[in-house]
Amino acid sequence: MTQPTPRRLWKYLCGPLRLTAYFRGPGDGRGRPQIPAAVLVWALVVGQVLRECSFHGVEALVRSPARRALRVARGFGDDALAYFTERLDPGPTRTALAATVRRAKRNKAFSPSRWIGVAVDGTGAGHGQAAGCPLCHPVRDAKGQVTGSLHHFAMISVVGTGLALPFDVEPYGPGDSEYVAGQRLLQRAVGQVGRRFADYVVADGEFATAPFLHVAGDLGLRVVARLKDNLPTLLAAAEARFTTQPPTLTVEERGERIELWDADDFDPWERLRWTTVRVLRYRQHHPDGRVVEAYWLTDFPPARVGSRQLYRFAKSRWEIENQGFNDGKTRYGMEHIRHHHANSLLVGWLLTIFALTIERLYRLRYLHRGRHRPATAIEFLRMLRLSLCPPRPLDTS
Ligand SMILES: [Zn+2]
Repeated sequence: MTQPTPRRLWKYLCGPLRLTAYFRGPGDGRGRPQIPAAVLVWALVVGQVLRECSFHGVEALVRSPARRALRVARGFGDDALAYFTERLDPGPTRTALAATVRRAKRNKAFSPSRWIGVAVDGTGAGHGQAAGCPLCHPVRDAKGQVTGSLHHFAMISVVGTGLALPFDVEPYGPGDSEYVAGQRLLQRAVGQVGRRFADYVVADGEFATAPFLHVAGDLGLRVVARLKDNLPTLLAAAEARFTTQPPTLTVEERGERIELWDADDFDPWERLRWTTVRVLRYRQHHPDGRVVEAYWLTDFPPARVGSRQLYRFAKSRWEIENQGFNDGKTRYGMEHIRHHHANSLLVGWLLTIFALTIERLYRLRYLHRGRHRPATAIEFLRMLRLSLCPPRPLDTS
């Protein structure tokens, strides 16, 4: 395998991924820039891939002897990054992310998967002591006293293809809500990647409301959404029918026995414009004896997507949890406030998912040719870090 280096990653971004124009013009909003935007945005991206999750960490990298290997033209301080990200237009980064996942599809990065899903979900990230920006949600203790602040955003990711690629985020402030932000996000993101990019959107129960389902339908997407007690009538009807019936189908998936109940003739709730609602219930029997049960609703006709495939679509929602939020937070500092400013936070989240997405495409598709096992994320990171050391003869004295 070719050893990954920052220079090779750069060549990959400018060659196969065709992102040169983005790095030249990432949406700089500074009046009289001293340091070119291309230098700063590349330093932020490569710093993020190297998991330097603070501006201070990026400063340390670009002021170290590793700067040459990082392909960063000059050193600068963390204050330059704060000033730059406060003013960076998030639009070009979103466009670059959309172009990247579109190119991944065109380059068959998702084969052999026949179906492409997108998952939408919200999260909280960036806990602070004091409120300091319009996106701050107050955090209260049991007595109602404000003890700090938290930020929230909705994210969209490609799922169900063997490669989870997050490609946009939408923040929401205290007067806004997750599912309204989710609608804006879905409209913008699908507008950017095109209506034919994905087949379905998968989401948790909070998004199973008529306005969100209608937005998805208007965008040409089928919906697979968790059915929870926020839709009590439909849930009660499905429970009443399925708990008294044997499963429609029992299958083996990854060594687990899955019982499936599936019917497509439930009544829609008042504000939903669908003619009928299809509901899937599954009981997943883990080898250790645990049983996980859930209900999902969809507008996929059974003739197009069978029960087993629908179960896989439902399960693909976990990819945004595990490979989106969990990886983002535990490995890429998505929780960390680099600079407490609303636009800086948004730019930070966008560059974090940009790093996640390009790292996966580079490591799992571009570098992974032939039969060998692809490098794990941590092996890749070690190789990249070691490549930063200037070569020097070993001291054998
Ligand atoms: Zn804030």
